[in-house]
Amino acid sequence: MPKIRLLSEQVVNQISAGEVVERPASVVKELVENSLDAGATSVTVEIERGGTRLVRVGDNGVGMSREDALLCFERHATSKITSEQDLYSIASLGFRGEALASIAAVTRVELETTEEGSDIGSRVVLSGGGVDAVEDSARPPGTTITVRHLFFNVPVRRGFLRSVETETRAVMDIVFRLALARSEVGFRLIAESREIWNLPAVGDMHQRLLQLIGAERVDGMFPVRVLVPGVAVEGFVGIQPAASSSRRQQMVAVNGRPADAPIIRAALVELLQAGGRSGRAEAYLHLRVDPSAVDVNVHPAKREVRFRDPGRIRAALAAALKEATRGTVGSQEVPAGEGPPTGTPSPPGRSRQGEFLSLVAEDGAAWEHRPAGRMSGGGPPPGLTARAVPLIQISETYMVARVGDALTVFDQHACHERIMYEETLRRLGGSRGMAQQLLFPLTVDLSPQELSLAEEYADDLRQVGFDIRLFGRATVLVEAVPADIHTDITEGLVRKVLAGLGEEHGALAGRHHRIASSIACHASVRAGDVLSDEQMRDLIDRLLATETPHACPHGRPTFIQISAGELDRRFKRV
Ligand code: ADP
Ligand code: MG
Repeated sequence: MPKIRLLSEQVVNQISAGEVVERPASVVKELVENSLDAGATSVTVEIERGGTRLVRVGDNGVGMSREDALLCFERHATSKITSEQDLYSIASLGFRGEALASIAAVTRVELETTEEGSDIGSRVVLSGGGVDAVEDSARPPGTTITVRHLFFNVPVRRGFLRSVETETRAVMDIVFRLALARSEVGFRLIAESREIWNLPAVGDMHQRLLQLIGAERVDGMFPVRVLVPGVAVEGFVGIQPAASSSRRQQMVAVNGRPADAPIIRAALVELLQAGGRSGRAEAYLHLRVDPSAVDVNVHPAKREVRFRDPGRIRAALAAALKEATRGTVGSQEVPAGEGPPTGTPSPPGRSRQGEFLSLVAEDGAAWEHRPAGRMSGGGPPPGLTARAVPLIQISETYMVARVGDALTVFDQHACHERIMYEETLRRLGGSRGMAQQLLFPLTVDLSPQELSLAEEYADDLRQVGFDIRLFGRATVLVEAVPADIHTDITEGLVRKVLAGLGEEHGALAGRHHRIASSIACHASVRAGDVLSDEQMRDLIDRLLATETPHACPHGRPTFIQISAGELDRRFKRV
């Protein structure tokens, strides 16, 4: 008889630490977000050896009582929600209540905190999650958390840490994003005892950007501002020549939180393509949306934000970006009917620095009722989503919907392939994809060829969300897979992806295309899969938010349409 045992608290924390704590930068992110949630107006981040030896975050926030100072390391300890209702309206930077528990499980932590209005604070020392000491502290109000020796007790994960330079860059990247998202807070970053940034609190994002990248670069960019019901976007976009060597930055904040929102990247790509530009887009954007319209807790590290209505936000953004950069080299006039979805277009021409272009739609309803007649041409109609449309599945292969006035039939596999393909490509070219840790890591035996491919492409696979490591001579251990993949197809998928890679060695684009199309093909829903209403809606919404919704990566159509006019002809009405 097999014996079932409950995992100890310690092991559970270590497993979930794998989801929250990936590298020093993730520790910095969690600690700084907590400081911001605590109302800090000044945050200092200090790292040693890229944060692997030490991460220290100090703030002047509200601090914690002795009781809270001990409680905060317990799993699901949070002061940020008390009821389920709060889940939908939360404005703070996260509420899963597991960051500190996860961090404490894999490091040595020292917490010093003093509550506002209190003379005596607390100092708590923990090691691997266990409390070693509790004593009084004389710290002024606020909190300092020092995290030492990341993964000291998890050698496997320690092995995955990169060089000091790489980890330092990752920390700089996250502090940059946090500072950009919260210009009203002062930030300092110190690495190896050297001050990298000292950013006093400022009035707006423009000034924060001046502090971070300097006037010369900021002046070359275009201010963007969009206001539509429920969504406000503000920030700067620039177009760099393709030859420019400076790193392309696309940084997005949503409601004061740095976030990766794929639809924003998609809108930027669209901007370049629509204008036939060969350059690259640089963008610093802040979206403010009704908190109930975003889901920030889809990922344990809260790295990606999902919108409940992506089509609408993407359309508003695409229109604003076009408008903001109108009149620049290589740009194209916005054709009639493709501008802002409704309402008053802003005056043409580019604005001067500091003045924002506004696209204001007064009538929110227009989004939903806009006729959608141009699907075969250039991209999906703005604002279209599958939310309100009744859907039917036919033959467990096709999804049928009314889109505008047209009967529209989607191929469920082709749709999902397109979505997965673009998502994978984006991960290969940008920030690492969301991974889901497998509770039971999978061993896969490989041929020598497959094994050498797995080694050769280790970085790409990791980038996409796989966590694969050698385990014995001809076996690999799969510890994590991309977040949106069914875990029961993992073994077949790993083999098929590797097989696809082995077919030919070519250019980078070709290599990325092969990984992406292989994952898309093998990880997507298939003909024969029964889909719920919700799944169908989700697929169609996400398809419409892709860059090229019309075809799967192999060139098959993802949907076909029969217009009302065509029906008229077929029924011999005209
Ligand atoms: P969460 O942020 O999801 O609530 P954490 O594990 O990150 O979970 O933090 C647990 C709790 O510890 C927070 O809800 C908060 O009450 C407290 N806390 C953590 N960091 C700070 C800080 N810098 N200042 C004040 N309170 C803090
Ligand atoms: Mg937190």
